Amino acid sequence: MKNIFSLSCKKAAQLYSESQERNLKVAELMALLVHRFVCGPCQRFWNQVFFIENVTRQYVQDFGSNDFLHDAALSPQASDRIKKSLEGSNFS
Ligand SMILES: [Zn+2]
Repeated sequence: MKNIFSLSCKKAAQLYSESQERNLKVAELMALLVHRFVCGPCQRFWNQVFFIENVTRQYVQDFGSNDFLHDAALSPQASDRIKKSLEGSNFS
């Protein structure tokens, strides 16, 4: 990690994803936390991710299963809308 303040949004999202599967190095974690603190779009993104994680966790607690996740799928139209929206974003 070159500089704790030079993390891009794309790299931050990648690190967050990796943090779900492995323990980040201290420098990676610090860069991620600093980026989240200073980047408005990423703060909104993580708030939405945490909301979804909490809703999913609550659902599993209430109903004892996350089987619904296996059946969940976006329609092709929704998938295209999200893809076009992400392509048009100016996240760096
Ligand atoms: Zn960002």
